[in-house]
Amino acid sequence: MHQENKPFAFYLERLARTAESLDLTPEQRTALETPNAVIEKELSIVRDDGRKETLRAYRVQFNNARGPYKGGIRFHPGADLDEVKALAAAMAIKCAVVNVPFGGGKGGIQFDPKQYSTAEIERISRTFIREMNGTFGINKDIPAPDVYTTPQIMGYMLDEHEKMVGESEPGMITGKPIALGGSLGRDTSTAQGGVYVLEELVTMRGLDREKLRVVVQGFGNAGYHAASILHELGYRIVGLSDSKNALLDPNGLDPIAIHRSKQEHGTLASPGARTVTNEELLAADCDILIPAALDNQLTATTAPKVKASIILELANGPTSPEGDAIFEERGITVIPDVLANAGGVATSYFEWVQNRQQFYWTKEEVFERLHPLMANAFHAIWTTAKEKRTSLREAAFVLGVERITTALAARGIK
Ligand code: GLU
Repeated sequence: MHQENKPFAFYLERLARTAESLDLTPEQRTALETPNAVIEKELSIVRDDGRKETLRAYRVQFNNARGPYKGGIRFHPGADLDEVKALAAAMAIKCAVVNVPFGGGKGGIQFDPKQYSTAEIERISRTFIREMNGTFGINKDIPAPDVYTTPQIMGYMLDEHEKMVGESEPGMITGKPIALGGSLGRDTSTAQGGVYVLEELVTMRGLDREKLRVVVQGFGNAGYHAASILHELGYRIVGLSDSKNALLDPNGLDPIAIHRSKQEHGTLASPGARTVTNEELLAADCDILIPAALDNQLTATTAPKVKASIILELANGPTSPEGDAIFEERGITVIPDVLANAGGVATSYFEWVQNRQQFYWTKEEVFERLHPLMANAFHAIWTTAKEKRTSLREAAFVLGVERITTALAARGIK
């Protein structure tokens, strides 16, 4: 059965629970239920063959009580207003959870980038920035990469923005190429942040890495790097997938070799591995499941079949509220997206700080700062969950919402 995906309704449902337990005032509740601004544009694009096309584009500026709006831009056919709004709200919570001085925003262009040439992608990226004129800025709203957007795309966007404002402003966007002021370590930081959090849990439970079997869904920036970092740490990667294929091998897969061969031949393959469906991948025998692709994967249909005891959400919104309820009932630990994948935005914060100072850090310095930031956020959420006897997701919401409402109250919204 197909599970209906209503990401913003899912956010409101989770917020309602938190609002009740925190006894929020109606003003605070409205502020957290409503985006500050929704900017919608039609982008007029000329294809390589001369055809004209229009693409729908969004930027949602959800909340900036704690600092400028922050959040990625995704290129995906599913990036409609409902999804972008939910993702913008999640960014506000996420930045508060890891305590970086940003609010939440998100952007999306609703199209399938795989059907477009590199030159077309560049034109679309530049047109987006021109059409969104006045939206972005180092102290206002700072985009970053997300699903199917890359450092190169951030480079085009920065270049277009700087042409418009007529001055250098590298801190208006993060996740950009190193040559334009990007931070060392930003490329692997989402995965690395997730691994830091996972390792806190593994250590706390006294588990033996070599005995832990991991399945990773998704082979993009987050999924691929998570699989390779965990593989190098000694975990056994028994399942991997990209948008076309899923592989299982109980003897272990080598994500680095698989990545190399995917770059050569275009498909995910490994000698001896079994090709399975996405459903079989999610239901595979393993200890740790890492959804690192799209949202709404672990639902009323798929959650009952999950065999993992730990879920690390590197994707945004991979578990539906029904999925959450099933995992809670089954005693499965879900490390929620707003914590698990926050290493990306935390390192975006470090990038922004470096841009402001025009003083750049080594990769070691970046990770020396990221590690305690993630570990502290994990322990704060763990303690809250124990105290309030809730899931980690609810605890993360409580912590995030509390920090946002404290900032709102300091601005007079009480
Ligand atoms: N797109 C990433 C996320 O969902 C990174 C956002 C950022 O660095 O601003 O967290």
